[in-house]
Amino acid sequence: MNLTKSQTAEESLAAFDGGLKLVSYKSISTRTTITAIAQSKQYIVPLQQHIGVISQVLVKPGEKVLKGQMLAKPGNLISAAIHSPVSGTITDITQHDVPHISGLADQCVIIENDFNDEWIKRQPLGDDYNQKSSQDLRKIIRDSGIVGLGGATFPSSVKQTEINIKTLILNGAECEPYITCDDALMRERAQEILSGADIIGHIIKARQCIIAIEDNKPEAIKAIQSAIDQDGTGFFQISIIPTIYPSGGEKQLIKIITGKEVPKSRYPAELDVLCHNVATAYAIHRAIYFAEPLISRITTITGHGVSQPQNVEVLIGTSMKHCIEHCGGYTDDSAELIMGGPMMGFSLSSDTLPIVKACNCLLITTKTEDIQKEKHLPCIRCGKCVEVCPVRLLPQQLYWYASSKNIDRLVEHNLFDCIECGCCAYVCPSDIPLVQYYRYAKTTIWQQERERKSSDISRLRYEAHQQRIEKQKREREEKLRKKREMLKIKNADSDKNSEQTAITEALARAQEKKAERLKEKNKETD
Ligand code: SF4
Ligand code: SF4
Repeated sequence: MNLTKSQTAEESLAAFDGGLKLVSYKSISTRTTITAIAQSKQYIVPLQQHIGVISQVLVKPGEKVLKGQMLAKPGNLISAAIHSPVSGTITDITQHDVPHISGLADQCVIIENDFNDEWIKRQPLGDDYNQKSSQDLRKIIRDSGIVGLGGATFPSSVKQTEINIKTLILNGAECEPYITCDDALMRERAQEILSGADIIGHIIKARQCIIAIEDNKPEAIKAIQSAIDQDGTGFFQISIIPTIYPSGGEKQLIKIITGKEVPKSRYPAELDVLCHNVATAYAIHRAIYFAEPLISRITTITGHGVSQPQNVEVLIGTSMKHCIEHCGGYTDDSAELIMGGPMMGFSLSSDTLPIVKACNCLLITTKTEDIQKEKHLPCIRCGKCVEVCPVRLLPQQLYWYASSKNIDRLVEHNLFDCIECGCCAYVCPSDIPLVQYYRYAKTTIWQQERERKSSDISRLRYEAHQQRIEKQKREREEKLRKKREMLKIKNADSDKNSEQTAITEALARAQEKKAERLKEKNKETD
């Protein structure tokens, strides 16, 4: 392949710390183009499919809904809308198992499909989006329920709040083995991705857009380059980056492209950069040009445990079982079902769970594969995990502190900077599932934090209650005091009045006597 001018950016690329070269296993799911999964009878749509607060449900059981209708609105700023993937009837709103690392159930809207495929009334903006303000476009993106589709699921419109950001980076790195949904999207829908990037660029007033693709995706590079050539504006360029895991991590990618590190607890916008996944750009294109909310996504169904690995376009809420059947079903030696890739994914207990916005890949392993190891040996302090950590953490120290539940030391050793890339666990000669320890520790700390907040709230409530009682007591006493004073004044007035009455009566009596004496005197004189 001949490199064009925009592709030579790799010469000036920086490297991030650590990382790994992994066997990719990507070709097994790119033998066919993206296929569409047929609609099923029932859809299970979770209300929490994003980072942030759970969405607020707007529908009731028994209600008829249209395809694309908003089922739940964002719960607050960091939240996302949820839409119906089909037309049909809400049969229930209830707790249902969802694909989450906690393995816990969550609130879901259950929809029975009427197969009429009847859409809500839609008013696409098309090219007129250029006339709209950043605020108006962000509102459309928010109302369309679009979240980061690289796996982070952070509400996209919130990311676009900063404007006048010089560089938009589109992340097409897709560095985990097996996963190819972004590769397939770039190969087949390059122009739509660029269109979405143009819209984001218009919102944040970006001056350039760099599309980062790993060098193991030559077809995607070719397709994107061809779309850039057709665009001809000079806004876009490709940056071909080396295939080193985890180059698709946001901070790692920014370091590769700009040579700068996003400081701890800070945002890319401070480096004049905004990063979006290619699939997110595609979803934004659909929202603006077709008024289509996020009701479907491309998911890789892969692994040696499924008969026909491939990329599928699937409606959110479809059962995983339905997707696997579409791909020819399980092989005889299939073993484990994992959501995500072998490095950052997590094992699922059942295939009856629904596809959610975060679901970029379903990986089905075989009994002979050893992707997520369960038994491990003790740590031998070899330090290999330290060498590969892209965030410069001390994984073996984190492991010790996680094992001994030493929360203070875990926090001191920056557990929350861990991006759960799994590089440390991958190289560990003792097969210690380090990421599982970190996730468990993080969940425990979050849980304790929630409990602390909840007990703080209870304490504040109790104190407020006590204060209310004290206030009422004080008010009652004050009322009583005033009443007593009033009574005293009244009594004093009454005493005064009685005294006056006695004087008046005495005077009257004296006058009466005087009149009688005068009368008798007059009689004597007569
Ligand atoms: S790689 Fe494994 S055995 Fe080696 S120091 Fe790290 S945790 Fe210990
Ligand atoms: S999982 Fe965490 S500790 Fe391990 S290498 Fe990745 S970032 Fe470092």
